[in-house]
Amino acid sequence: MSSHLTVLGWHNVESTWCFPVTGSGAAGLEGQLRRLRKFANVVPLEEALDSLREGRPLPPRAVALCWDDGYVDNLRLAVPILEKLGLPGTFFLVPGLLSRESRAWWEVAGWAFERSSKERIEWRGMRLFTRGQAGRICYGRAADTLRTMAAEEREEALADLVDRLAAEGEPGDAGLFLDWNDAKELVSRGFSVGSHTMRHATLAQESPKAQFEDLRQSRETLEGELGVPIRVVAYPFGQSDAVSEATRDAAERAGYAHGLTTEFGWNTRATPIAHGRRIMLEPHIGFAQTVVGRVAGRIQARRE
Ligand SMILES: [Zn+2]
Repeated sequence: MSSHLTVLGWHNVESTWCFPVTGSGAAGLEGQLRRLRKFANVVPLEEALDSLREGRPLPPRAVALCWDDGYVDNLRLAVPILEKLGLPGTFFLVPGLLSRESRAWWEVAGWAFERSSKERIEWRGMRLFTRGQAGRICYGRAADTLRTMAAEEREEALADLVDRLAAEGEPGDAGLFLDWNDAKELVSRGFSVGSHTMRHATLAQESPKAQFEDLRQSRETLEGELGVPIRVVAYPFGQSDAVSEATRDAAERAGYAHGLTTEFGWNTRATPIAHGRRIMLEPHIGFAQTVVGRVAGRIQARRE
């Protein structure tokens, strides 16, 4: 028996504009899950978080699986693999994306870079290249800038960015995401659902009141539409500029039993319930490579 829980998180299975995947994402994910099933005990996320909080023992090498954002391939590709292997999973959904009232700005920006008719542009005092490796790095810089804006400012800045990149056509980003019927299917097939905010907010950049309203509304909307209790929130972006003391406080007041960040690491009884840790993975990058990369990144960050 153990008192450690490792939460593994993914986003899309196959390539999107924002998150390119090398090779077959579905094959990569299936390989990861098969290996995991051999050396770990895969447990349902919510129950395991409850056990940890209440001091009940977990099986040794307890691991829980979750997916953020509600990409449509979570249902089409990840769910059949989970079913085949008999593994539980949790999906963190965004009501605004499910209803098509919001857009995934990171995918729109990714598309505009990928399809840009310009080799480079100027945007908010930055020179941004669009092609090859430099293009990916510049996309990252633009995305970091957009991520740390409040919602209203971001909308204007994104429109300006897309305008300057002058891509041909339409991104079709809505088709990348689940809709409400798909979300209901996740539930009816026995998977669990959590909140990922109403519109994928960078919570800590919003006022404490706005954070509370968003978290309350996203929980109530998901509960109303899906008819299941929503007890866990995964904070979008989940890093230090997206999760503050006000965010953790808002999550607890808005009725969540647990909050998860993307802070690297595992969870013990000592982990704050509104600030759980996760290891975020991609289907084409192995566990060892991810962990070594993150640990090396930490060492480097400490040196700087
Ligand atoms: Zn997200």
